[in-house]
Amino acid sequence: MKMLLDGQWIDRDKKIDVIDPYDNSVIDTVPCGSNEDARTALSCVAAAFEITKKMSVYDRAQILYKTAQIINDRLEEFATIIAREGSKTINEARKEASRCGNTLIVAAEESKRILGETIPFDSFPGGEKRRGYYYRFPIGVVLAITPFNDPLNLVAHKLGPAVAAGNAVILKPATVTPLSAIKLVEAMVEAGLPPQAIQLITGYGSDIGDVLVSDERVRMISFTGGVEAGKHIAGKAGIKKIGMELGSDSPVIVWKDADLDLAVESCVSGSFWAAGQNCIGVQRLLIHEDIYDEFKEKFVAQTKQYKIGDKLKDDTDMGPMITEKEAERVEKWVKEAADKGATVLTGGGRKGALMEPTVLENVPADATIHCEEVFGPTVNLYRINDLDEAIAEANALPYGLLAAVFTSNVDVAFKAAYDLDCGGVMINDSTDYRLDSMPFGGVKYSGLGREGLKFSLQEMTEPKVICFNLPKM
Ligand code: NAD
Repeated sequence: MKMLLDGQWIDRDKKIDVIDPYDNSVIDTVPCGSNEDARTALSCVAAAFEITKKMSVYDRAQILYKTAQIINDRLEEFATIIAREGSKTINEARKEASRCGNTLIVAAEESKRILGETIPFDSFPGGEKRRGYYYRFPIGVVLAITPFNDPLNLVAHKLGPAVAAGNAVILKPATVTPLSAIKLVEAMVEAGLPPQAIQLITGYGSDIGDVLVSDERVRMISFTGGVEAGKHIAGKAGIKKIGMELGSDSPVIVWKDADLDLAVESCVSGSFWAAGQNCIGVQRLLIHEDIYDEFKEKFVAQTKQYKIGDKLKDDTDMGPMITEKEAERVEKWVKEAADKGATVLTGGGRKGALMEPTVLENVPADATIHCEEVFGPTVNLYRINDLDEAIAEANALPYGLLAAVFTSNVDVAFKAAYDLDCGGVMINDSTDYRLDSMPFGGVKYSGLGREGLKFSLQEMTEPKVICFNLPKM
């Protein structure tokens, strides 16, 4: 497949293979974009913004509605690409593709609600004869950088609101999963987006990132990815807006009065969705000691039933990790924890990129798998007996995206909801629940700002004040 620069789909001699991590087959290639290509993309953005800022809200919304229609009409095609280039099973990929359609529809709806307000200039002496208001204008050029784990819907979370707001975009999709992003841009162009309005550059972030990130023509960086790349980007960005959706180590508290079957089912799915490569995937389960043994037994039993393997088969529950190297890393972290005294209740094994769903207990606080984002199919069980201590434990690490609590006690639910330090608390759901229109983002190293269409539109627009001095009034 090709990249889109200056309105043209172009290829390059130097290419990157896009590999299916299940069988290591090469699905396709994309051009390996260079710094020269990044400069070309940047040289087109002024003209691109001239196009997008003049498009009516009606036209922008129609493009987004039509793109959603294209995706919904070709759902199986999009789902197959997601499943082949990444880690997701076909069922997980179908869900992502259908969420992507919804993301674009909500972006279209929100484009009609980019509202301003009148300003009471007469609220301070001297302003009696002034009248005015503010409206929100598009921020300009948005640089969108996306990760591998939701290769379609997380791209839609940037392109949807950017187009809805009237911005021009440079998109740098994940190096390993660029195909879904290219298909989405193709669909947007088919739906009527002028091809000059969006630059799509494929390549290695570490090669071309600095040229894109540091350029002053870019007015906002919308980044989703790991904290290391996030820190690097923040250091290079200079004076521009930065939106960051980073990682986490999501904690879930299971209180003694929880509906155990609900908690087990929800947390097993939340731990192993997309082979655990999920920013809101359950990593730490803090379980009340009264129900610990029963929860553990049920949790391990359900995990053992997980069928791992061929992503394209309908009955596969979990596919491979994104690369063999990543699976080796997780296997190493499990071994390190075991060497330090953790018990592996199930899993721990690996074949190529396929890492077994793994459950650990007695994980010491200095194990990497306890204190770093694992981003793989493993989960740690901890015994707790005091709510304050459980909340303190949940808050102890430097991330804070989503947290969750299972309980039937409203006091416990409210206390946890207010005291957990994060961007959202799910009650009687695992952390792996997200509605695409809710404000989504984290505190501490989990990020800056919020996504979720309406909230992304706030980030991608700026208020401009218009004030009339009317001395003859
Ligand atoms: P990553 O940080 O390795 O890469 C993300 C993107 O950044 C890729 O497109 C990559 O090419 C690019 N990149 C890397 N270095 C760069 C640089 N120096 N300059 C510019 N761009 C650069 O992340 P990943 O492995 O693709 O994704 C996994 C991470 O993403 C996890 O930490 C996960 O938690 C996080 N994530 C967060 C959310 C969220 O919404 N909070 C959602 C999904 C994933």
